Amino acid sequence: MGDYLRPKTLAAALQALAEKPRVVLAGGTDHFPARVGRGADEDILDLTAVKPLRLFEDKGDHWRIGALVTWSDVIETELPPYLDGLKLAGREIGGRQIQNTATLVGNICNASPAADGAPILLALDAAIEITSASSKEVMPLAAFLHGNRATALQPDQLVTAIVIPRPRGPAASDFIKLGARQYLVISIVSVAAAIEVDMRKRIRKARIAVGSCAPTARGLPALEAELIGEECGARLGELVEAEHLSVLSPIDDVRASAAYRRDAALTLTRRLLARLGRRLGAKS
Ligand SMILES: Cc1cc2nc3c(=O)[nH]c(=O)nc-3n(C[C@H](O)[C@H](O)[C@H](O)COP(=O)(O)OP(=O)(O)OC[C@H]3O[C@@H](n4cnc5c(N)ncnc54)[C@H](O)[C@@H]3O)c2cc1C
Repeated sequence: MGDYLRPKTLAAALQALAEKPRVVLAGGTDHFPARVGRGADEDILDLTAVKPLRLFEDKGDHWRIGALVTWSDVIETELPPYLDGLKLAGREIGGRQIQNTATLVGNICNASPAADGAPILLALDAAIEITSASSKEVMPLAAFLHGNRATALQPDQLVTAIVIPRPRGPAASDFIKLGARQYLVISIVSVAAAIEVDMRKRIRKARIAVGSCAPTARGLPALEAELIGEECGARLGELVEAEHLSVLSPIDDVRASAAYRRDAALTLTRRLLARLGRRLGAKS
């Protein structure tokens, strides 16, 4: 039988991990379904009593999302329109019961190729704050996600927060997901984008990322580069070509074939950019 710790401070949690490797528990919505039928032999570190980790903070030039912030917290907190894409992703994660418990950090640490948080956080240029008893570092999400269920995290480390930089000018983000039905479904493809414009509504920075089409969510750098300088409007969708998605490596599985995923990713990327282009191009 493994032991179970529920410390009240971050220092105590980090000390417990420094002593021996433990399975970290946040909302448990990925952990518990994966453990069904496997017994109770693991040592658990339950983070849920470390209250300061539940903070969503506006730090001026960035937002800091603590490790216990749930998807419902994101949906219900008043946030600038730039983070609309994050709210949209949250509304698509499971149902209300899951959103009330599941954390953004758990979604990222679980490192499923189909994690809906990954593409939108990549598009928002998120970085991951990693803390141990003796160190603290912040690394880009793309570097943190190593592959299917694999991350840069070491056994003595916790993810303490996700950090999202504030854009320098007018900007917006968006998210779209395709599943076998409308709700409570694992993504076949998801696409997220964040676009920053200048005062003439020309694109000065674009980030687009696709989920469920590679071992981790993938950015589309060729498309991002091509969008620079373009005027915002619905025609942004028409600029997306199949070659822009050549970095994807979808697989055939029970949910969809690789060919279907590739085709759906192209359609969704076009649709998302048309929607976001229209929004950013609209007269204010
Ligand atoms: C019915 C159902 C529907 C779902 N629907 C969706 C969906 O539509 N889209 C989607 O993306 N996901 C979905 N999920 C998966 C899950 O709900 C999300 O991935 C959720 O965000 C995970 O967060 P959690 O806090 O529950 O993670 P947990 O289960 O607590 O943890 C997940 C993993 O991350 C690790 N971990 C958690 N926090 C930390 C930390 N601070 N530091 C280090 N490691 C940590 C844990 O050790 C574990 O390996 C669904 C799950 C269920 C049961």
